[in-house]
Amino acid sequence: MNYAEYLAEREKMAEENSNLVGNVLNAKEQAVDERLRQMKQRLRESIDENTLYKMNFLENEALWSSELYGFMSALPKGSDLHVHATALLPADKLVDFVAEHRELVVDVNDCHIYNIAETCFDKNACLPLADAMEKGLLSRGEILRKWTLTGRRHNESVWEYFENLLGLFESIEYSADTLFDYYVTAFEYYLEKKVFHIEIHAVFSEDYERSLELAETVKRAYFEVKKAHPELIVSVICSGLKYLGADLSVPEMYLKNALRLREDICDDFEPDNTHPFIIGFDLLNEEDKSIPLKELAPMLLDYKKLYPDFNLYIHCGESLHAQVDNLIDAYLLGASRVGHGMNLYRFPKLLNAFADREICLEACPVSNKTLRYVKDLRLHPVAEYLKRGVTVALCSDDPVCQEHETLTDDFFAGTVCWDLGLADIKQLCINSILYSGLDKKQKSELSASWKNAWNEFLNIFS
Ligand SMILES: [Zn+2]
Repeated sequence: MNYAEYLAEREKMAEENSNLVGNVLNAKEQAVDERLRQMKQRLRESIDENTLYKMNFLENEALWSSELYGFMSALPKGSDLHVHATALLPADKLVDFVAEHRELVVDVNDCHIYNIAETCFDKNACLPLADAMEKGLLSRGEILRKWTLTGRRHNESVWEYFENLLGLFESIEYSADTLFDYYVTAFEYYLEKKVFHIEIHAVFSEDYERSLELAETVKRAYFEVKKAHPELIVSVICSGLKYLGADLSVPEMYLKNALRLREDICDDFEPDNTHPFIIGFDLLNEEDKSIPLKELAPMLLDYKKLYPDFNLYIHCGESLHAQVDNLIDAYLLGASRVGHGMNLYRFPKLLNAFADREICLEACPVSNKTLRYVKDLRLHPVAEYLKRGVTVALCSDDPVCQEHETLTDDFFAGTVCWDLGLADIKQLCINSILYSGLDKKQKSELSASWKNAWNEFLNIFS
């Protein structure tokens, strides 16, 4: 082989191995892709490598003030298929929301939020957030530290810290009026960030009536925002908990509640054209401290027989342990998508089966980084899954304590760390629509909204 032949062969191999997801780009998109390439280059030249690849969105302003971040913020992302109910708003936005709601008071010591009508808090330590900030008792910076994973000390358990954090926000659900406002604010924020469809993974309550009340509040807020923004579609994936040691009747009770809710509540924004509002079921919490799915399989198989159209969107593969093989169960149980699926690399044949059956991974890179499943996002396995034909949609997970801007951070991190081009980004956005739990009609409406926004986006950046 002479050098010319060597170079030709080399170019061919680089091309064969470079394609992540790919999508055909027209001339205008190719021009935007070139701008994107330049933005990535300038970012890599302007921020020190060690700082850049830490991808610390909660503290590093240089990331969000970059032109590339502006590009990702404006990107029409399609759907967020994996985000948890009381974690929708990033902490910075939540500060404004809580400060505007004087029925919410904040403990100045630990920044725990309470509703003033509750009786379980120390009244001497709590006051409305706007007052606490005005009196200098709390600064925005201190609150952000207390509400996000930045406040964790190195020797503290990540998951323990994370679950305690989520507990700080629970009282937002105490009053239906406050919760309604919370969801309205969140849905408007998502639209601003060009996310038109949200699949909220919600652990409502063990009590059915309370679950119904909470689900109705999500729906009312969704309909309120949809009046002015018909492009918005919100769905709920009812979620249950599967803590190790819990009686198996607990996950079953969540599943029964989910199925009852599906009967009792639907998306009837257009009353003569209804759609499912509860689109499936999920089981969650720290996977390494959960009941293995194979023990829950008898229950899930029975329900699959009775309700074959009720989809499973189960958290699994969010583990560093080689012995945690819940992804096998998700496959056998016929899951439509899985939450995370990070450790799929441990099961090469299963990986091919996921690709063949188009089981979509809800990849949440920023969450995986902040919860310490991956130290450096350049090593996140999802980039390899894309090359191997596995279907992926980027999702946000728990923006409140992990992200500066919901989903923008994930697209930014993926683009920089995995060197995504516009063709890959476009396909990831399309996947979030194609593999959503929506029905055919909703998918085509969502697709039309996304295409319009995509063309506007191209006009801005071409
Ligand atoms: Zn999750």
